Amino acid sequence: MGFLSVLTGSFSSPADDNPTVAMMEAAYEAAGLDARYLNVDVSSADLADAISGARAMGWVGFNCSMPHKVAVIDHLDQLAESAELIGAVNCVTIHDGSLTGHNTDGQGFVEAMREYRHPGGTHIVVLGAGGAGRAIAVESALAGAARITVVNRNAVRGEALAQLVADRTDAEADFQPWTSRYAVPSSADVVVNATSVGLGDDQALVDIDPDSLRPELLVADVIPNPPRTAYLRAAAQRKAQTLDGLGMLVAQGAIAIELWHGVNPDRAAMRSRLSEVLGLDSP
Ligand code: NDP
Repeated sequence: MGFLSVLTGSFSSPADDNPTVAMMEAAYEAAGLDARYLNVDVSSADLADAISGARAMGWVGFNCSMPHKVAVIDHLDQLAESAELIGAVNCVTIHDGSLTGHNTDGQGFVEAMREYRHPGGTHIVVLGAGGAGRAIAVESALAGAARITVVNRNAVRGEALAQLVADRTDAEADFQPWTSRYAVPSSADVVVNATSVGLGDDQALVDIDPDSLRPELLVADVIPNPPRTAYLRAAAQRKAQTLDGLGMLVAQGAIAIELWHGVNPDRAAMRSRLSEVLGLDSP
């Protein structure tokens, strides 16, 4: 019997509204792992010290969320391939004092999506080109999507993402400026809202033509809270399959646990705890 737990956690600011700790500790409990996940509020000015502290204390890794996803890169020894392409890191592994940056957000999306559709050969429309949009577009392309359409208000950001996918992956990519109500094209297999529209507001609806959400589409959202967004409700009304942001949140956390501990965590236990702490009716 030992008394020294394996340490992991999250660095972000603000941190008090981040429910990740609840689902990660639920996974540790379910797996019988003597590991802890600490939710830590770390300012930008303190990021370097926090990382040195994690290394000094023998943490096996940590997540980073806003505002550290790009800034953390300066403190790492190497980047996994997709994190390098995406240009952002949300998960760091520490092995023999060496820090490697990963991005599990897009991988989490692809894992959640696989329950409904295999990404191979699909045409995926990504609404948004911020951190979540970049991660989803790049990982979907690396997972075999044939075409990625990036739709964004800010043309510079949107064009840069489409160019990145076209230059660095095997997928075709195009950019559509989001200047008026967007209609999802008939060639699309999947459309994902990767904007922040809907976060904390179950009435906010992205500016798309709801009648373009056909029954054949998989309609996905990154918004974890509230998970039943106006966009997903509009899709369900039109008989499209829907995938909420909790699926991606659970999967990106589960992939982090696999990287840190080499175990395959119980995703149902993670989702159930998350639903509980978010006050949702059912997992
Ligand atoms: P960013 O700030 O990097 O990007 C925000 C994106 O949303 C930009 O593309 C922006 O467009 C777009 N946007 C914002 N408001 C509007 C609007 N009114 N109409 C159209 N587009 C809009 O944020 P992130 O990408 O980091 O995060 C986006 C969301 O993803 C957040 O809500 C976050 O909670 C969620 N998320 C969920 C995860 C999960 O596991 N479920 C993981 C990571 C993030 P523009 O460039 O034109 O300004």
